[in-house]
Amino acid sequence: MTDKNAQRVLVTGGAGFIGSHLCESLIADGATVTVVDDLSTGRWGNIAHLQESRRLKVIVATAADQTLMFDAVAQSDLVYHLASAVGVHLIIDRPVATVETIFHTTDAVLKACARFRKPVLLTSTSEVFGKSDAIPFREDDDVVMGATEKRRWAYACAKALDEFLALAHYHESALPVFIVRLFNTVGVRQSGRYGMVLPRFVRQALSGGPITVFGDGAQRRCFCSVHDVVRALRALPFAAEAVGKVVNIGSQEEVSITQLALRVKRLTASSSTIEYVPYEEAYGPGFDDMRRRVPDLSRVSSYIGWQPEEALDSIISALILDMATSEAGRSITSA
Ligand code: UDP
Repeated sequence: MTDKNAQRVLVTGGAGFIGSHLCESLIADGATVTVVDDLSTGRWGNIAHLQESRRLKVIVATAADQTLMFDAVAQSDLVYHLASAVGVHLIIDRPVATVETIFHTTDAVLKACARFRKPVLLTSTSEVFGKSDAIPFREDDDVVMGATEKRRWAYACAKALDEFLALAHYHESALPVFIVRLFNTVGVRQSGRYGMVLPRFVRQALSGGPITVFGDGAQRRCFCSVHDVVRALRALPFAAEAVGKVVNIGSQEEVSITQLALRVKRLTASSSTIEYVPYEEAYGPGFDDMRRRVPDLSRVSSYIGWQPEEALDSIISALILDMATSEAGRSITSA
């Protein structure tokens, strides 16, 4: 793997929001990319435009298929494992599938990487930090998990188990694994269907309906551009120091959810009102939310000199333009 730009790369979950941006970047730099995606939360439309390059092969199947994974991994130089259940709504609505698919899929991918000794980058999540209030979150901090009776934490625990399994392969057989904890990532092609706040706010503002802020709106998040995230994903597997490590990727610029709603309203010039919805109503009983979530970026900055660059307003504006255009396209087609 000496030439970063000429490789065979396998991307599980490549038709998803982040996966499709990663594939786009890899293909632009000359890589040959194989996507394995069952299109459960990913969409064909996310990668349709990449077909022209002739360097994209798409296999519509689950990455939990061990035989398929052995075959696909054997023919790759580098593996990105992004396939996962995503979004708070999906996780609350389909708790069995969340736990089962996350773990089985990662197990199948790691077994194949271990057999053929292929480097693998696994995307985990800032949810793994749980309810910690030790801001900013460092990768080696203790995790503070909520009660198992609260379904949200099943996702965090399943992803933490993925991390343990990947690190176990690293410790037992020196498999080159790279684990990334992604904080809130936003950009064009993100769907609001599974709960993600920004595309939901933009859609609501464009339609003129109320912008629904859950809880008191004072909870804060840091939103990072998918382009910045992809830059880090591309560089990390080439950083020797990052092997066998967990690495945070995200923005450190905090914004409250009420402020986010106001920014979307301003940038869309929408007349939408802001409506506060209790968590119980939004997610059902027994929901835990995090008040703040900020990454410590010392590791990623020392390993690859990375820091986020794209400003939140410019990300929101790009999303507005994209959603307004695709909405207009849909209404023309359905007219
Ligand atoms: N949220 C909201 N309205 C929505 C969707 C989400 O106020 O329509 C809130 C959610 O309760 C959380 C924050 O926005 O406090 C970010 O939610 P998201 O699901 O995007 O990511 P999270 O950080 O919770 O994983």
